[in-house]
Formats: sequence, C-alpha cells, structure tokens
Amino acid sequence: SLRVAACSSRLGIDLDALRANYRAIAERVAPARCGAVVKANAYGLGVARVGAALYREGCRDFFVAQLCEVGPLARVVGSDAAIVILNGLDPESEAVCAAVGAIPVLNSLLQVARWRAHARALGRPLPAALQVDSGMSRLGLPPGDAVALAADPVLPRELDLRLLMTHLACADEPGRAANGDQLAAFRAVAAHFPDVPASIANSGGVFLPADFHADLARPGVALFGVDPGPNAQGLCPVVRLDARVLQIRTIEAGTGVGYGLDHIAPAPQRLATIALGYADGWPRCLGGGGAAWHRGARLPIVGRVSMDSLTVDIGALAENDLAEGDFVELLGPSQSLAGVARDAGTIAYEILTRLGARHARIHV
Ligand code: PLP
Repeated sequence: SLRVAACSSRLGIDLDALRANYRAIAERVAPARCGAVVKANAYGLGVARVGAALYREGCRDFFVAQLCEVGPLARVVGSDAAIVILNGLDPESEAVCAAVGAIPVLNSLLQVARWRAHARALGRPLPAALQVDSGMSRLGLPPGDAVALAADPVLPRELDLRLLMTHLACADEPGRAANGDQLAAFRAVAAHFPDVPASIANSGGVFLPADFHADLARPGVALFGVDPGPNAQGLCPVVRLDARVLQIRTIEAGTGVGYGLDHIAPAPQRLATIALGYADGWPRCLGGGGAAWHRGARLPIVGRVSMDSLTVDIGALAENDLAEGDFVELLGPSQSLAGVARDAGTIAYEILTRLGARHARIHV
C-alpha cells in the first residue's frame, strides 16, 4: 500500500501468534474468564486490529486506561463486549462515559460519589468496577472504604457492579510474599461482594497459582509475546521490526561517527546508516551498545542514536550481503524485545509502547 511504501520501517504484528497467546492464556486460567488489556493503542500494536482479533477469538472483557481509548476499540468489537477504563473516572467525564457505555473503575470515594450522582440524575443504575488497593498504593479504595460500600443498601440502585478488582505490585516475581499478602487482603474485601466477579491477575498473575486467577484474568503484555516473569513459557513472539538501510560507506581509521563524534573508527570500518532513531522509539542510550541484525550477523550500533537514524558496523557481512534500501532486523528472531529492554536498562513494556507512529504497522 501507499502507506507501507512511504514508511522506512515496518512493524510486523503477527495476529495468529496473538490469538495463539490468547488461547493459551485462556486455557491456563479456565474456568476463570480471560480478558485483554489493550490500553495505549494495544501496547503500540494497533488497537483496531488487535481488538478485533481478540474479539473474534472470544474475548469479551477489554481494558483500556482512559476514556479517550474507548471509541477506537468500541468500533471493532461487538456490543456484547465490556470496555473497562482502568484509570478511572475523570471529573466532568461522567456524561460521556455513560453515553458510550464504558465501565469506569472507581478508584476513590470521590469517583464513587460522582458516578452515583450521575446515576441518580439519569434515573438508572450505571455499570461500574470497583478497585481495592490491596497493597500496591497506586490506585483503588482502601479495603475499609470498600467494605463500607458493600454495606450501603442504596448502592445497588445506583451502581451495577460488574467487577471488583485489585492489582498486584510483584506479580512478575512469584517468590515475593507481597503476592500472598495482597491476595489475602483482597479476598477479605471480596467476601463482602459475593455476587460481583473478581479480578486480580495481570500477565504475571496468570502464571501464579490458580487462586490468583479469580473470576477474570486481565493480561496485557503476555498476549503480545513478552514473558511476564520466570514462570512464563510457551508464548509466541508477536512483534517484528525492520528498518531500511539509508546509506552505506567505508571510513578510514581515525574517522569520527555521528553527533559528538563519540565513535572514532579504530581501523577502516564499513558502516550502514539505518532509518530508525529515537523519534521512532529506539532508545538513545543504545548508542554504542545495542545492535541491528542481518542474516544472522550482529551489527553493533556505533556512535550516538540520532532522531531519525542510527549507524551500525556492517564489517561482519560480506560486501554484497547488504545494499542501500535493504531492511535490517531490529526486533525479531535474532533480537527479542526482552533483549533490547535489557540492553537499554528498561522493561519490554517501555520498548513496545514507545515504538513510534512512523513505522508501517503490518498486521499479518
Ligand atoms: N491490570 C492493570 C490494572 C494494569 O494497569 C495493567 C497494565 O499495566 C494490566 C492489568 C496488564 O498488565 P500486563 O501487561 O503486565 O499483563
């Protein structure tokens, strides 16, 4: 297509692999239901295609972070799908939230009060999820506040509680005592809401014991092929990133490369400049550390990463192995998201969600 031809880099998204990951996780957590977290444009992979593929696979519980993310998802899933807004209810957003039929996670008593007031104004109960802070100290009601709500006889006339949820701080570290502590704290609250489905597990939680799966798991990153912890296995890689060679040159010993001339060639060096920079989400800190790959050869980045390009040493390749306009691999069979994240001193989530808008996203 024109769009693909116009882009110098290609982000391949393997929807079969995505669906296989969904099926594997759904099987693992059954009889609990399996939802999908598709916030941040499905972790950068394109919420329209990802949401539609997961819906076709049977997913009916979707999670986004913000109300502005509901529309693009709602357009591609059926009206039987629930869309839950994890970050909660912003002031003045009640009317829009109710109009689009989204389910806000109520994280504070103020949000509970505002949503109840809107329900009274509309004269009907409004769907809601309630988050309990079981120990992460990020979002959610203190357990005591949640228990007090359970005892409020008017609540069911105003709120149609669809979900009681909490979030684990250390799900990717199965050995941490905090996981058990959070589970116990959450269960003590959930006992007061016997008819409301409960949700605890993100991707890491999926690979914790079945107690953590509760009624509904809500994985994100594992669907996209990233192992969420040491117990995870068997997930299929979903993402592939290739970028074009812009130019090839040979420089003499002593020649500097890139901004600041940080790299000085120790000997004659063959270089390729690649169409990928920090504006495309490639970490600038990988200058002088990371690599691209081609035909099984590692091509180390030399000098600083620029906004729109980076330069690699192609000395490991034969002369005619690589030409201007060819693609080299940045993510794929030779280099995983986890590997790039490790080299950059960050997590795969950050690499994934920052992959820029300029890549042609090709869903296969
Ligand atoms: N649940 C909540 C509340 C989240 O904030 C997130 C994402 O950060 C998830 C689930 C999904 O997490 P993961 O991508 O680790 O599966």
